[in-house]
Amino acid sequence: MKIQADNLVFKYGDLLAVDDVSFTVKPGEVLGFLGPNGAGKSTTIKMLTGQIKPYSGHLQVLGSEPYRIKQHIGVCFERTNLYEHMTARENLNFFAKLFSIKKFRAEHLLTRVGLGDRMDDKVSKFSKGLKQRLMIARALVNSPSVLFLDEPTDGLDPLSSEAVRKIILEEKERGASIFLTTHNMFEAETLSDNVVFINDGKILLYDTPLNLKLQYGSKMMLVDVEKKNGETEQLEIPLDNPDTGLQLKEIFDSSNVLRIHSREASLNDIFIKVSGRGLE
Ligand code: ADP
Repeated sequence: MKIQADNLVFKYGDLLAVDDVSFTVKPGEVLGFLGPNGAGKSTTIKMLTGQIKPYSGHLQVLGSEPYRIKQHIGVCFERTNLYEHMTARENLNFFAKLFSIKKFRAEHLLTRVGLGDRMDDKVSKFSKGLKQRLMIARALVNSPSVLFLDEPTDGLDPLSSEAVRKIILEEKERGASIFLTTHNMFEAETLSDNVVFINDGKILLYDTPLNLKLQYGSKMMLVDVEKKNGETEQLEIPLDNPDTGLQLKEIFDSSNVLRIHSREASLNDIFIKVSGRGLE
Protein backbone atom coordinates (compact mmCIF):
# COMPACT_ATOMS: atom_id res chain seq x y z
CA MET A 1 0.00 0.00 0.00
CA LYS A 2 1.38 3.43 -0.88
CA ILE A 3 -0.95 5.21 1.52
CA GLN A 4 -2.49 3.58 4.57
CA ALA A 5 -4.65 5.85 6.69
CA ASP A 6 -6.43 4.39 9.70
CA ASN A 7 -8.88 6.33 11.87
CA LEU A 8 -7.30 9.73 11.30
CA VAL A 9 -8.52 12.54 13.51
CA PHE A 10 -7.53 16.20 13.36
CA LYS A 11 -8.79 19.05 15.51
CA TYR A 12 -8.33 22.83 15.25
CA GLY A 13 -8.98 23.71 18.89
CA ASP A 14 -12.43 22.28 19.57
CA LEU A 15 -13.32 21.93 15.91
CA LEU A 16 -13.18 18.34 14.71
CA ALA A 17 -12.00 18.91 11.10
CA VAL A 18 -11.22 15.26 10.28
CA ASP A 19 -13.20 12.66 12.16
CA ASP A 20 -12.11 9.00 12.08
CA VAL A 21 -11.08 8.83 8.43
CA SER A 22 -9.62 5.60 6.97
CA PHE A 23 -8.60 4.74 3.41
CA THR A 24 -5.82 3.16 1.37
CA VAL A 25 -4.22 3.96 -1.97
CA LYS A 26 -2.48 1.22 -3.96
CA PRO A 27 0.28 1.61 -6.58
CA GLY A 28 -1.21 2.97 -9.80
CA GLU A 29 -4.47 3.94 -8.09
CA VAL A 30 -6.18 7.31 -8.25
CA LEU A 31 -8.23 8.05 -5.14
CA GLY A 32 -10.68 10.91 -5.63
CA PHE A 33 -11.37 12.73 -2.37
CA LEU A 34 -14.60 14.66 -2.77
CA GLY A 35 -16.48 17.00 -0.55
CA PRO A 36 -17.81 20.56 -0.31
CA ASN A 37 -15.79 23.46 1.09
CA GLY A 38 -14.91 22.93 4.71
CA ALA A 39 -15.34 19.13 4.50
CA GLY A 40 -11.79 18.39 5.65
CA LYS A 41 -9.99 17.72 2.35
CA SER A 42 -7.11 20.16 2.79
CA THR A 43 -6.60 19.11 6.39
CA THR A 44 -6.33 15.49 5.24
CA ILE A 45 -3.82 16.41 2.52
CA LYS A 46 -1.77 18.36 5.07
CA MET A 47 -1.54 15.26 7.26
CA LEU A 48 -0.65 13.08 4.27
CA THR A 49 2.16 15.41 3.21
CA GLY A 50 3.59 15.77 6.71
CA GLN A 51 2.67 19.44 7.23
CA ILE A 52 0.58 18.64 10.29
CA LYS A 53 0.41 15.59 12.54
CA PRO A 54 -2.80 13.66 13.12
CA TYR A 55 -4.36 14.21 16.54
CA SER A 56 -4.92 10.47 16.60
CA GLY A 57 -4.99 7.53 14.23
CA HIS A 58 -2.30 5.86 12.19
CA LEU A 59 -0.86 7.08 8.92
CA GLN A 60 1.81 5.67 6.65
CA VAL A 61 2.91 6.92 3.25
CA LEU A 62 5.36 4.61 1.42
CA GLY A 63 5.63 2.67 4.66
CA SER A 64 6.88 5.66 6.67
CA GLU A 65 5.71 8.67 8.55
CA PRO A 66 4.88 11.33 5.94
CA TYR A 67 7.50 13.90 6.97
CA ARG A 68 10.29 11.36 6.38
CA ILE A 69 9.61 10.68 2.71
CA LYS A 70 9.29 14.14 1.17
CA GLN A 71 11.89 13.18 -1.45
CA HIS A 72 9.51 10.63 -2.91
CA ILE A 73 6.27 12.56 -3.09
CA GLY A 74 4.99 15.24 -5.43
CA VAL A 75 2.58 17.94 -4.32
CA CYS A 76 0.52 20.40 -6.29
CA PHE A 77 -1.67 22.71 -4.27
CA GLU A 78 -4.09 25.32 -5.50
CA ARG A 79 -2.00 28.22 -4.30
CA THR A 80 0.77 28.75 -6.84
CA ASN A 81 4.23 29.06 -5.39
CA LEU A 82 6.41 29.39 -8.41
CA TYR A 83 9.26 31.84 -8.79
CA GLU A 84 7.67 34.48 -10.99
CA HIS A 85 10.92 36.19 -11.97
CA MET A 86 12.40 32.93 -13.24
CA THR A 87 11.61 31.17 -16.50
CA ALA A 88 9.68 27.87 -16.56
CA ARG A 89 12.92 25.99 -17.20
CA GLU A 90 14.73 27.76 -14.35
CA ASN A 91 11.90 26.95 -11.94
CA LEU A 92 12.18 23.23 -12.70
CA ASN A 93 15.98 23.22 -12.63
CA PHE A 94 15.84 24.91 -9.24
CA PHE A 95 13.61 22.16 -7.82
CA ALA A 96 15.73 19.44 -9.45
CA LYS A 97 18.70 20.87 -7.56
CA LEU A 98 16.77 20.83 -4.30
CA PHE A 99 16.10 17.14 -4.90
CA SER A 100 19.78 16.59 -5.90
CA ILE A 101 18.76 15.14 -9.25
CA LYS A 102 21.87 15.01 -11.43
CA LYS A 103 20.72 14.40 -14.99
CA PHE A 104 17.55 16.44 -15.05
CA ARG A 105 15.94 17.35 -18.35
CA ALA A 106 13.49 20.17 -17.87
CA GLU A 107 12.68 20.19 -21.61
CA HIS A 108 11.16 16.72 -21.50
CA LEU A 109 8.85 17.53 -18.60
CA LEU A 110 7.88 20.93 -19.98
CA THR A 111 7.01 19.42 -23.34
CA ARG A 112 4.84 16.84 -21.60
CA VAL A 113 2.75 19.53 -19.94
CA GLY A 114 2.46 21.49 -23.19
CA LEU A 115 4.95 24.23 -22.28
CA GLY A 116 7.53 23.18 -24.87
CA ASP A 117 7.41 26.54 -26.64
CA ARG A 118 7.30 28.63 -23.43
CA MET A 119 10.27 27.12 -21.59
CA ASP A 120 12.33 30.28 -21.57
CA ASP A 121 9.53 32.74 -20.79
CA LYS A 122 9.27 34.29 -17.35
CA VAL A 123 6.51 32.77 -15.22
CA SER A 124 5.14 36.25 -14.50
CA LYS A 125 3.90 36.30 -18.11
CA PHE A 126 1.96 33.03 -17.74
CA SER A 127 -1.83 32.71 -17.50
CA LYS A 128 -3.33 30.79 -14.58
CA GLY A 129 -3.63 27.68 -16.79
CA LEU A 130 0.02 27.78 -17.83
CA LYS A 131 1.14 28.32 -14.23
CA GLN A 132 -0.91 25.34 -13.15
CA ARG A 133 0.69 23.15 -15.82
CA LEU A 134 4.08 24.29 -14.58
CA MET A 135 3.07 23.46 -11.00
CA ILE A 136 2.21 19.94 -12.17
CA ALA A 137 5.55 19.67 -13.96
CA ARG A 138 7.24 20.85 -10.78
CA ALA A 139 5.44 18.17 -8.78
CA LEU A 140 6.85 15.57 -11.18
CA VAL A 141 10.50 16.69 -11.08
CA ASN A 142 11.49 13.87 -8.67
CA SER A 143 9.39 11.17 -10.48
CA PRO A 144 7.31 10.78 -7.29
CA SER A 145 5.80 7.48 -6.19
CA VAL A 146 2.89 9.34 -4.63
CA LEU A 147 1.29 12.49 -6.00
CA PHE A 148 -0.98 14.81 -4.04
CA LEU A 149 -3.09 17.06 -6.19
CA ASP A 150 -5.40 19.56 -4.52
CA GLU A 151 -8.04 20.81 -6.98
CA PRO A 152 -5.59 20.59 -9.89
CA THR A 153 -7.98 21.90 -12.55
CA ASP A 154 -9.95 24.40 -10.48
CA GLY A 155 -10.60 27.55 -12.51
CA LEU A 156 -8.65 26.35 -15.55
CA ASP A 157 -9.65 26.72 -19.19
CA PRO A 158 -10.80 23.45 -20.87
CA LEU A 159 -7.54 22.98 -22.77
CA SER A 160 -5.38 23.26 -19.64
CA SER A 161 -7.79 21.04 -17.67
CA GLU A 162 -7.54 18.38 -20.36
CA ALA A 163 -3.74 18.65 -20.34
CA VAL A 164 -3.70 18.19 -16.56
CA ARG A 165 -6.04 15.18 -16.72
CA LYS A 166 -3.88 13.54 -19.39
CA ILE A 167 -0.81 13.88 -17.19
CA ILE A 168 -2.64 12.40 -14.18
CA LEU A 169 -3.51 9.34 -16.26
CA GLU A 170 0.07 9.03 -17.56
CA GLU A 171 1.40 9.16 -14.00
CA LYS A 172 -1.09 6.50 -12.93
CA GLU A 173 0.10 4.38 -15.88
CA ARG A 174 3.69 4.82 -14.63
CA GLY A 175 2.54 3.29 -11.32
CA ALA A 176 2.29 6.43 -9.21
CA SER A 177 -0.44 6.55 -6.58
CA ILE A 178 -2.49 9.69 -6.83
CA PHE A 179 -4.50 11.38 -4.12
CA LEU A 180 -6.78 13.87 -5.82
CA THR A 181 -9.12 16.32 -4.21
CA THR A 182 -11.68 17.92 -6.45
CA HIS A 183 -15.21 19.16 -6.49
CA ASN A 184 -15.41 18.58 -10.21
CA MET A 185 -17.59 15.49 -10.53
CA PHE A 186 -16.73 14.80 -14.15
CA GLU A 187 -13.08 14.77 -13.24
CA ALA A 188 -13.62 12.54 -10.25
CA GLU A 189 -15.59 10.08 -12.34
CA THR A 190 -13.21 9.91 -15.26
CA LEU A 191 -9.98 9.72 -13.27
CA SER A 192 -10.66 7.92 -10.01
CA ASP A 193 -10.45 4.20 -9.34
CA ASN A 194 -12.09 4.83 -5.98
CA VAL A 195 -13.83 7.84 -4.55
CA VAL A 196 -14.28 8.98 -0.99
CA PHE A 197 -17.16 11.31 -0.17
CA ILE A 198 -16.34 13.41 2.84
CA ASN A 199 -18.61 15.84 4.66
CA ASP A 200 -18.10 17.55 8.04
CA GLY A 201 -14.86 15.61 8.45
CA LYS A 202 -16.53 12.20 8.12
CA ILE A 203 -16.41 9.68 5.28
CA LEU A 204 -19.93 9.13 3.97
CA LEU A 205 -19.15 6.75 1.11
CA TYR A 206 -16.05 5.00 -0.18
CA ASP A 207 -16.27 2.85 -3.32
CA THR A 208 -15.64 2.74 -7.08
CA PRO A 209 -17.63 5.29 -9.12
CA LEU A 210 -19.39 2.42 -10.89
CA ASN A 211 -20.47 0.68 -7.67
CA LEU A 212 -21.77 3.96 -6.27
CA LYS A 213 -23.80 4.55 -9.39
CA LEU A 214 -25.18 1.02 -9.39
CA GLN A 215 -26.04 1.25 -5.73
CA TYR A 216 -27.55 4.72 -5.66
CA GLY A 217 -28.65 5.33 -9.23
CA SER A 218 -32.20 4.70 -10.36
CA LYS A 219 -32.22 1.70 -12.64
CA MET A 220 -34.13 3.17 -15.49
CA MET A 221 -34.10 2.87 -19.24
CA LEU A 222 -35.04 5.88 -21.31
CA VAL A 223 -36.62 5.08 -24.67
CA ASP A 224 -37.09 7.83 -27.24
CA VAL A 225 -39.89 6.97 -29.65
CA GLU A 226 -41.34 8.80 -32.60
CA LYS A 227 -45.05 9.39 -32.20
CA LYS A 228 -47.51 9.19 -35.11
CA ASN A 229 -47.58 12.99 -35.43
CA GLY A 230 -43.80 13.01 -35.85
CA GLU A 231 -43.03 14.32 -32.36
CA THR A 232 -40.53 12.54 -30.11
CA GLU A 233 -41.61 11.16 -26.75
CA GLN A 234 -39.38 9.83 -23.99
CA LEU A 235 -40.60 6.78 -22.08
CA GLU A 236 -39.12 5.73 -18.75
CA ILE A 237 -38.95 1.98 -18.24
CA PRO A 238 -37.79 0.63 -14.86
CA LEU A 239 -35.14 -2.05 -15.31
CA ASP A 240 -35.90 -4.09 -12.20
CA ASN A 241 -39.49 -4.84 -13.11
CA PRO A 242 -40.46 -8.40 -14.23
CA ASP A 243 -42.55 -6.92 -17.08
CA THR A 244 -39.68 -4.89 -18.56
CA GLY A 245 -39.10 -7.31 -21.45
CA LEU A 246 -42.77 -7.37 -22.33
CA GLN A 247 -43.07 -3.62 -22.08
CA LEU A 248 -40.12 -3.14 -24.39
CA LYS A 249 -41.55 -5.59 -26.91
CA GLU A 250 -44.80 -3.66 -26.95
CA ILE A 251 -42.97 -0.42 -27.55
CA PHE A 252 -40.97 -1.92 -30.41
CA ASP A 253 -44.13 -3.44 -31.93
CA SER A 254 -46.13 -0.25 -31.74
CA SER A 255 -43.68 2.58 -32.37
CA ASN A 256 -40.55 3.70 -34.11
CA VAL A 257 -37.82 3.52 -31.46
CA LEU A 258 -35.22 6.23 -32.04
CA ARG A 259 -32.80 5.45 -29.24
CA ILE A 260 -32.45 3.75 -25.86
CA HIS A 261 -30.16 4.71 -23.04
CA SER A 262 -29.87 3.99 -19.35
CA ARG A 263 -30.22 6.72 -16.80
CA GLU A 264 -27.39 6.84 -14.30
CA ALA A 265 -27.10 8.98 -11.24
CA SER A 266 -24.15 11.35 -11.34
CA LEU A 267 -21.76 11.40 -8.39
CA ASN A 268 -23.22 14.79 -7.55
CA ASP A 269 -26.77 13.29 -7.37
CA ILE A 270 -25.40 10.60 -5.07
CA PHE A 271 -23.64 13.13 -2.87
CA ILE A 272 -26.86 15.10 -2.48
CA LYS A 273 -28.71 11.90 -1.64
CA VAL A 274 -26.35 10.91 1.16
CA SER A 275 -25.42 14.34 2.56
CA GLY A 276 -28.41 16.50 1.77
CA ARG A 277 -26.17 19.07 0.10
CA GLY A 278 -24.55 19.56 -3.30
CA LEU A 279 -20.91 19.67 -4.18
CA GLU A 280 -20.68 21.82 -7.24
P1 ADP B 1 -11.75 21.63 2.70
O1 ADP B 1 -10.33 21.52 2.23
O2 ADP B 1 -12.56 20.40 2.42
O3 ADP B 1 -12.42 22.87 2.21
P2 ADP B 1 -10.56 22.12 5.30
O4 ADP B 1 -9.75 20.92 5.63
O5 ADP B 1 -9.84 23.33 4.81
O6 ADP B 1 -11.73 21.71 4.29
O7 ADP B 1 -11.39 22.56 6.60
C1 ADP B 1 -12.05 21.65 7.46
C2 ADP B 1 -12.62 22.42 8.64
O8 ADP B 1 -11.55 22.95 9.41
C3 ADP B 1 -13.47 23.63 8.26
O9 ADP B 1 -14.50 23.73 9.18
C4 ADP B 1 -12.51 24.78 8.34
O10 ADP B 1 -13.19 25.99 8.63
C5 ADP B 1 -11.62 24.38 9.51
N1 ADP B 1 -10.24 24.89 9.36
C6 ADP B 1 -9.41 24.71 8.32
N2 ADP B 1 -8.21 25.27 8.55
C7 ADP B 1 -8.28 25.83 9.80
C8 ADP B 1 -7.36 26.56 10.61
N3 ADP B 1 -6.12 26.83 10.21
N4 ADP B 1 -7.80 26.97 11.82
C9 ADP B 1 -9.05 26.70 12.26
N5 ADP B 1 -9.96 26.01 11.54
C10 ADP B 1 -9.60 25.58 10.32
